[in-house]
Amino acid sequence: MSNASTVPTVGRPEIAAQYEDNSRYPSGIAYMDGQYLPMSQAKISVLDWGLLHSDATYDTVHVWDGRFFRLDLHLDRFFNGLEKLRMSINLSREEVTTVLQNCVGLSGHRSAYVEMICTRGSSPTFSRDPRDAINRFIAFAIPFGSVANAEQLKRGLHVAISSTVRIPPASVDPTIKNYHWLDLVKGLYDAYDQKAETALILDFEGNIAEGPGFNVFAVRGGQVSTPAKNVLPGITRRSVLDICSELQIPVAEKAVSQDDLFGADEIFITSTAGGVMPVTKVNERSIGTGSVGEITKTLMDEYWKRHSDPKWSTPISYFS
Ligand code: PLP
Repeated sequence: MSNASTVPTVGRPEIAAQYEDNSRYPSGIAYMDGQYLPMSQAKISVLDWGLLHSDATYDTVHVWDGRFFRLDLHLDRFFNGLEKLRMSINLSREEVTTVLQNCVGLSGHRSAYVEMICTRGSSPTFSRDPRDAINRFIAFAIPFGSVANAEQLKRGLHVAISSTVRIPPASVDPTIKNYHWLDLVKGLYDAYDQKAETALILDFEGNIAEGPGFNVFAVRGGQVSTPAKNVLPGITRRSVLDICSELQIPVAEKAVSQDDLFGADEIFITSTAGGVMPVTKVNERSIGTGSVGEITKTLMDEYWKRHSDPKWSTPISYFS
């Protein structure tokens, strides 16, 4: 039997205060329902299908030294995802760009991690028909973050291959950037159990797919390769393919097996959250010489160089 005195959390202002505490959130600005808000006030309904069913698509673009990097490609992927999921946001591409510019400008972060999100939303009747839900657009800008920290960027990440299989494309289309991450998060815990820092997980054919928030590349005998399918077509991955073509570094999109990784001279991962990041150990085995390889170093340099190139980046008016 319970009575009022044994229900500990109801009406406890110190618990509510924890949720209001701004220090629980990174500094930044979000856009929701036509308003710009501090991150601590950007909240969605518990009835949103985005939360209840992972029914959402999103994209993350970064801002480096006051400029968006390859914003057009991120917008293409986001609007493509909306169409495939039959969602609509009532904002044009130009209006989304303005919202993102405003989030970054108001946040004051010259280097920022910027998300645009559309959730299925909710319906007033809690209808089970997704067509009744009112789709919800959200955006936010917080400080830039990276998969790899400064030490890991210098000496290379230590990665473990998890036997977890990435959700197959026949179930969830990987070209729609999505929050179906239970496989990736399980992979992360498997990696931590093996004393590694992050994970790679397999595709349903037993080849390497991708990791939690990144694509992967292997280099052998001067030839760069990355999984061709069953993965998110990352914009950083695209950038590496483009840079390789420009620099005439041989590159191929093809199946990458576990043996291909163990036999590689160099491995690196790619993400908007960190760019091109070296990997020097897989399952506690050193890759190549055990230190960051020359092709990886070249691609890291070339990738960051392009952040001030007007062909690859767009200035944010607040900072000019
Ligand atoms: N793969 C997955 C599953 C991701 O979530 C991400 C980024 O979040 C990537 C790859 C890398 O994509 P991008 O280079 O566009 O950040």
